[in-house]
Amino acid sequence: MENPRANVAVQRRRRKGRGVVLFPLPLQGHINPMLQLANLLYSKGFSITILHTHFNSPISSNHSNFTFHSIPDGLSESEASTDDILAFLTLLNVNCVSPFRDCLAKLLSDSPQEDQPIACIITDAVWHFTQAVADTFNLPRIVLRTSNVSSFLVFAGLSLLREQGYLPIQESRLEEAVPNLPPLKVKDIAVIDTRNPEDFYGLISSMVKEIKGSSGLIWNSVEELEQSEMIKLGQDFPIPLFTIGPFHSYFPASSSSLLTQDQSCLSWLNTRAPKSVLYVSFGSLAKFNETEFKEIAWGLANSNQHFLWVIRPGLARGSEWLETLPDGFLEMVGERGHIVKWAPQQEVLAHPATGGFWTHNGWNSTLESICEGVPMICSPCFGDQKVNARYVSHVWKIGVHLENRMERVEIDKGIKKLFVETEGEEMRQRIMHLKEKVDLSLRQGGSSHQALESLINYISSF
Ligand code: UDP
Repeated sequence: MENPRANVAVQRRRRKGRGVVLFPLPLQGHINPMLQLANLLYSKGFSITILHTHFNSPISSNHSNFTFHSIPDGLSESEASTDDILAFLTLLNVNCVSPFRDCLAKLLSDSPQEDQPIACIITDAVWHFTQAVADTFNLPRIVLRTSNVSSFLVFAGLSLLREQGYLPIQESRLEEAVPNLPPLKVKDIAVIDTRNPEDFYGLISSMVKEIKGSSGLIWNSVEELEQSEMIKLGQDFPIPLFTIGPFHSYFPASSSSLLTQDQSCLSWLNTRAPKSVLYVSFGSLAKFNETEFKEIAWGLANSNQHFLWVIRPGLARGSEWLETLPDGFLEMVGERGHIVKWAPQQEVLAHPATGGFWTHNGWNSTLESICEGVPMICSPCFGDQKVNARYVSHVWKIGVHLENRMERVEIDKGIKKLFVETEGEEMRQRIMHLKEKVDLSLRQGGSSHQALESLINYISSF
C-alpha cells in the first residue's frame, strides 16, 4: 500500500526539479545496478541525467524518463576490445577526466544559479577521478559500489596484505587463512591479472582513497547478508553508508542489457520438470581457454542433467561461438541441453524449472540467485568473484565450490551434489531461508527499505 505522505514528497521533489547525475562504469555488471538505482531515484521524484562513455553506451530509448549525455572516452578499437580489464579501467580513468569535467561544467552552467537543480553526482566506485572533479564544482559525490561489502574489505586491506607479504600470491600459500578476514584463504584474495600489476594496486588504492573522501557510499547488498562486514566497514569508512539492495527487485536488468536476451530459452524451460535444469552462465567478461571450455562441456554432457548454457561469443577465448565445443557434443546432449548467446537471466532464475545455477559469482548473478532461492555451483574467475564464491560456499553455505581447475569429473560430482545428494537439498533450504530474509529487508521497516528512505532524505538535504 502506497503511503500518501511519501507520494506528496515525491511530487514535491519532482516539482522542484531536483536532479541527480549518474555516471556508470561501461561494463554490463556495473551498468545494470547503476540504471536500476537511477530508476529507483526517479520513482522517488528526482530527475535523472546519465553521463556515459561512447564505449558500451546504454540504450537510451529504453529509458525515456532520463536525459543521456555521451562523453568521448578516447579508446582505440584495440584498447576497447582488450582482455586486460585492469589496463582498460586505468586508461578510462585518465581519458575521461576532461570530457567528464567539461560535460558537468556545461550541465551546471545550463542550469539557473539561484535554483541549483543538481543535488549531487553518483558515480561508480571505480571512477575514482570523479571525486576531484566533484570537489572543484563543490558538488557532493556519492559512490555506488556495485559489488558487496565482503569483497570490498579485501580491496580496502590490500596494501596491508601486500606489506605482510601475501601479495603477489604464492602457490605455496594458497590454502593459508587471510588474517582478520575469515573464512577467506589466500587464493580468494580479490586480485585481477594485468600486464602491469602496479596498475592493479594503483587503481584499487585510488578507489579506496576517493571513497573515503566522498559524501556517502551506496551498496547493492542487504545488511542481513553481511552484518559483521558492515560493522567493520563502518569503523574504517566513517561516511554515510546506504545498504539498499537488491536493486533488481525493484527494476529488472533487461532494459540495460547490452546484448539481446534470447527469450527462446523460456519456452524451452517451460517443457522441463520443476527444479530439473542447471542454468550455466559466467557473466559478461569471463573467458576460458580451449581446454577449460571443453572440460565444462564434458562435465555437462557426463552429468546427465538438463542444462541451459549461456555461451557468449568469445566465452571460449578466440572463438566466434560454438566451434570449440567437443566434436559430437550437440548430438550427444540433444534435447537435454539448450544453448543461447545471452539469456534473460532474472527470468531464467525465477523459472520453476531452474534448480541450480553454475556461475562465476559476479555479484549481480550471486544476488539474483539468492533472490530466487536457486543454489549455486561456484567457478569464480577473478577479482571479487573469488570472495563471493567463498561466502556462498562457506558462510551462507548455499553452493558447491569447484575449487580446483576446470575438470570434467569434478564438475560432474558438483552437479550431482547439488541435484541428487542431501547436501544439495540442505543448500536449497538454506538459500530459501536467506531469500526470505532479503524479501523482508525490502518491506516497510526492513533494513534496505529504511536505508533507501535515509538515502532519499540525505540527497534531498543537499
Ligand atoms: N546477464 C544477463 N544474461 C546472461 C548473463 C548475465 O542478463 O545471459 C546479466 C545478469 O543478470 C547480471 C549481469 O548480466 O545482472 C552480470 O553481472 P555480474 O555481476 O553477475 O557479472 P559480470 O558480467 O560483471 O562478470
